Amino acid sequence: NGTQQAAALRFEESARRIAENARYIAGGVNSNFRLGMVPGPLVFERGEGAYLIDADGNRIIDYYCGMGATVLGHTPKPVIEAAQRQAEKGILFAGQMPIEYEAARLICERVPSAERLRFGSSGSEVAQAAMRLVRAATGKRIIVKFEGHYHGWFDNILWSTAPGLNAAGPEDAPTPAIGSRGQDPAAGDGLSILGWNDLAALEARLARGDVAAVMMEPAMCNQGAIAPAPGYLEGALAACRRHGALLIFDEVITGFRLGRGGAQERFGVTPDLTIMAKAIANGFPVAAVAGRADLLDLFADGVLHGGTFNAQPIAMAALVATQTMLTPEHYERSSAHGQRLQDGIRAILAEEGIKAQVVGFPLMFHVAFGLDAPARNYRDVARADKVAYSRFAHALLKRGVRALERGAWFVSSEHDAAVIDRTLEAVRGAAREVAG
Ligand code: PLP
Repeated sequence: NGTQQAAALRFEESARRIAENARYIAGGVNSNFRLGMVPGPLVFERGEGAYLIDADGNRIIDYYCGMGATVLGHTPKPVIEAAQRQAEKGILFAGQMPIEYEAARLICERVPSAERLRFGSSGSEVAQAAMRLVRAATGKRIIVKFEGHYHGWFDNILWSTAPGLNAAGPEDAPTPAIGSRGQDPAAGDGLSILGWNDLAALEARLARGDVAAVMMEPAMCNQGAIAPAPGYLEGALAACRRHGALLIFDEVITGFRLGRGGAQERFGVTPDLTIMAKAIANGFPVAAVAGRADLLDLFADGVLHGGTFNAQPIAMAALVATQTMLTPEHYERSSAHGQRLQDGIRAILAEEGIKAQVVGFPLMFHVAFGLDAPARNYRDVARADKVAYSRFAHALLKRGVRALERGAWFVSSEHDAAVIDRTLEAVRGAAREVAG
């Protein structure tokens, strides 16, 4: 029986290699976000569509999707071939190439706020570029950031993000929580931390007049998969306008996942600036800061933005091929599969007597154990039963399904009907294991 067989998956070779190579790689991993997952970080040999094959030879259905990047699965042939063809022309010229013009045009055509853009290599980096632009444009210093929203790991923005640290202080006036040892405590002075989805609190803060920009995940996907309350995005934009602040959407997760034009297209609210990364090139290192032409033009007027790897040609070719594959039919088809998975998980958990909220979007949703109602903000998500969910995630992994321990599920176009069926079978087995 498939469930029992899958329940026998073991990960000893991964554990052995992680331990062995920790002599070279600090902590055995190259991002702290790869640490701390039960039963420990895994080592993968290769990907194949929706699957990853690990060092123990397990074939695992993957819902990490490169932390949200691989919206077309792990091995989309046209993307790989485009990258190979580009690589043969040379690696890095420190000049412009036709492929980056095509890439820029595609993103500007697709993302409503994107009149112009600049490419970078990571989400963290373009978040910094956006912050610099808004401070230059407004002459003001403060960036409003929300509890539980993540905009990269740099000192001046890694505040009130890490689980467990950031539920400090009253909900309507959170105490800023530093994200890391060694972080410059003064680097948080340029921030004001608020609870998300609370328009009155935002309006009150903006009324003080010192805010350069409000930066937010337009749907909160680092913690939960929370849609903005009706009118919240519109209200935030209007409040920014009233008080001389700019609005930045961090679409690093939502971009090309909530739809081709991202959350801004889905919810019909166009910010001044947008940052994108992850799915933009299906896992190749590309990020972008995009938005109003007059703001982006500041890069040609004294605002510095650099980066040896910006618009790296191989990654640009991958971007163009990825965007070519992101057709309306792609979203229609994979959204149908993703929605069936989400609905199936909700139904199975209910049938097995596990109290949970399964909410979000077709290609990115969140499962929170122990909540009576859908979360509206970080404080709500923080009340979920993380220990029970972690046991469930481990029970799934033993059955060959890898989903993030924080409850997020990322779906790709390779998660087809057969993959969803297999996943739901594993969900049933895992739910019985943790409920029983
Ligand atoms: N913004 C959001 C919403 C993210 O989820 C992330 C990464 O997870 C980042 C920014 C930072 O992107 P990167 O990891 O590419 O630096």
